[in-house]
Amino acid sequence: MFNSGDIVKVLIPNVINRGYDYRLVESADIGNFVRVTVMNRHYIGVIVGAGDSGLDESKIKSVIEVSNVGKMSKADIDWVYKMSDWTLMAPGAVLRLILNVPDAFEAVKTEQLYTFNFDSSVKMTQQRQAVSDAFASNDNEAMSVKDIMNIARVSNAVVKSMIKSGALLSADSREIKDNRFLYKYFDTGSVKLNDEQQSAADTIAKALSTDGFSVHLLDGITGSGKTQVYFDSVLRAYNAGKSVLLMMPEIALTAQFIDRFEKRFGAPPVVWHSNLTSARRRSIWRGVACGDIRIVVGTRSALFLPWQNLGLIVVDEEHEEHDTSYKQEDMGNYHARDMAILRAKIANFPIVLASATPSVETLHNVALGKYKRLRLTSRFGGAQLPTIETIDMRVNRSESYKIGDEEKNGNLSSQLCEAIKDTLDNHQQVMLFINRRGFAPIVQCKKCGWVAGCPDCSTSYNYHKHINKLVCHMCGRMEIVPSVCPQCGNNVSMRGAGLERIEEEVMNKFPNARTALVSSDTIMSREALERLVHKMENGEIDIIIGTQILAKGHHFPNLTLVGVVDADMGLFGTDFRAGEHTFQQLFQVAGRAGRGEFPGRVLLQTYQPEHPVIRAICAGDRDEFMASDMESRRAAQMPPFGQLVAVIVEADKETTLKKYCDELSRNAPALNGGKIMGPIAAQIYQIRNWYRMRFLISGNARANLQPIVSDWIAKVKQPANVRIKIDVNPQNFM
Ligand code: ADP
Ligand code: ZN
Ligand code: ZN
Repeated sequence: MFNSGDIVKVLIPNVINRGYDYRLVESADIGNFVRVTVMNRHYIGVIVGAGDSGLDESKIKSVIEVSNVGKMSKADIDWVYKMSDWTLMAPGAVLRLILNVPDAFEAVKTEQLYTFNFDSSVKMTQQRQAVSDAFASNDNEAMSVKDIMNIARVSNAVVKSMIKSGALLSADSREIKDNRFLYKYFDTGSVKLNDEQQSAADTIAKALSTDGFSVHLLDGITGSGKTQVYFDSVLRAYNAGKSVLLMMPEIALTAQFIDRFEKRFGAPPVVWHSNLTSARRRSIWRGVACGDIRIVVGTRSALFLPWQNLGLIVVDEEHEEHDTSYKQEDMGNYHARDMAILRAKIANFPIVLASATPSVETLHNVALGKYKRLRLTSRFGGAQLPTIETIDMRVNRSESYKIGDEEKNGNLSSQLCEAIKDTLDNHQQVMLFINRRGFAPIVQCKKCGWVAGCPDCSTSYNYHKHINKLVCHMCGRMEIVPSVCPQCGNNVSMRGAGLERIEEEVMNKFPNARTALVSSDTIMSREALERLVHKMENGEIDIIIGTQILAKGHHFPNLTLVGVVDADMGLFGTDFRAGEHTFQQLFQVAGRAGRGEFPGRVLLQTYQPEHPVIRAICAGDRDEFMASDMESRRAAQMPPFGQLVAVIVEADKETTLKKYCDELSRNAPALNGGKIMGPIAAQIYQIRNWYRMRFLISGNARANLQPIVSDWIAKVKQPANVRIKIDVNPQNFM
């Protein structure tokens, strides 16, 4: 506790600095949010400790105000600094993730209260008497106009006239609490866990009751009922007075999920994601800060809510999305799972990772005994896992189709079409998966070879038919489709297949089937996704065609056939996670089939049926695949056996970029057992008109690369118009 006059260190949410000193003019504690000025601008910062700048006291400014909205614990503050050490983001940049609700500290809405003036000589009418009685029966406790109207059953006009005549006297005002999110949860008793689920739940329960850090991998096949297991843990922690965070990818936050939550807990969850109104964000932020809201289901940014007494984190679908579309990520390069684990470790509570396809890193930690694995080996209710077969496209060729007189090359083989037909005949549903938005990935002149490309990025344009535009998937830029080749005047053609082309083919080959397209272009909001999920559940869709949005989380009992149009897509990425990621994605998609009473079937169209990833998927042999992937990583000293840090340097001019990279190379530190690779052009050399080069720093598992990298970067003066992005343990090499 600090007193008025003490000098404290305040961390500000967006300076490079590790904290500035200020003088308190009232008492306050570590973790209190305070209003201060830096260069005459107001900031909300947080007290992180005693002042230590050694500055002349006369130069130290005073804290303007200590906020009574929430408080960060000592562990939270440690977490901010540790996260900064790990990601090489400045501590202030990490704090900004927490304090990113700008109006959270603005004055709250208040309402004026009144008391009854029993000495007033105002003439009493029947209605005024009713008001008087209302106060009398509440010991003349101060009331709002609304209260008075409700209790005395009088109009606003009556109250107003009484205020005017002095029969009602102004008293204090009080904060109007937003009680939209203040739910009480209890076990509705609607679910009985099966033996496997119960034993997993018991293990987590034990960890919760002993209070301490532990990581539990809830490793269950798709449809095994992981959700109900961790719901059990959520309720336990909640009942023990703790706060609970449930993290999941945005697309998994469906009405289906919220329904399930409500059925189990008697009230809906508070949901946190990127599309909330500022009023909601503010309410939830404050509700969490003052401990009124204790369960939040949210995307990774929910990790940065001002949690009070956090006692459990559940990370559902443990691995992250690998979305390379133009949506900007929230600030900073951090892996939410790792940062959640770090938080649990520092604050000393258990964390649960739930996944059907855990990452190699996680499985490695299981093998090392650092994480406990809880297995769910069968689908809930006895549903069978789907059978998975390949369709060898080298011999099976896709069938063409006709639009008018025009013969079009198809992408669906006759085998797949047969299976679709059978499924439709049985009144069951089909999912076709292709992870490419739009109609065609390449627009090209067949005569001179010209390809339409985004002028700001080093990528080709995709053709999107439903809007009839060229779209850059890197930056979102759109252009009209050229009617002829700008180079030679010949006709242009659309090459390769995206979602929309598959839809065209399906509508042509199955004209009576009701189809739906699902991608980030057609499903712009979660509400749109909900509507679609509803239609699927009600059997209003026969064939659903979609990208990875479809891969996760959804439970459609009548969906029995999953067709993967191009299983090879993604197998040949240049980064070392390509195999793992493709495996996970295909495994997840396959897991959508046959979750109800009818068995499921998965067909993978591939030119490489003997590829290890494809073989492993068919054999349903996740563990073996992961083990072999792990072996090759061990051999190559790739994570988790070695460490990697990517440093991406971006500049708006190529000359600046080159000069700065040369300077970095000249100053490269010597690494003991590791090396610095690069600079090379980043996988995507140009994005939004900025040029990009990449260094890759490797080291063994014990190397502490972060301080080496940050010293290195600090040593070379960074010119204007150069940006540096540091990605510790990068998930992709964009
Ligand atoms: P997972 O997340 O492991 O893929 P889900 O949690 O979606 O699986 O569960 C699959 C289905 O089984 C869901 O419809 C779920 O409501 C149901 N389910 C799972 N466990 C139970 C249970 N103990 N009692 C009733 N229904 C359950
Ligand atoms: Zn041409
Ligand atoms: Zn672009």
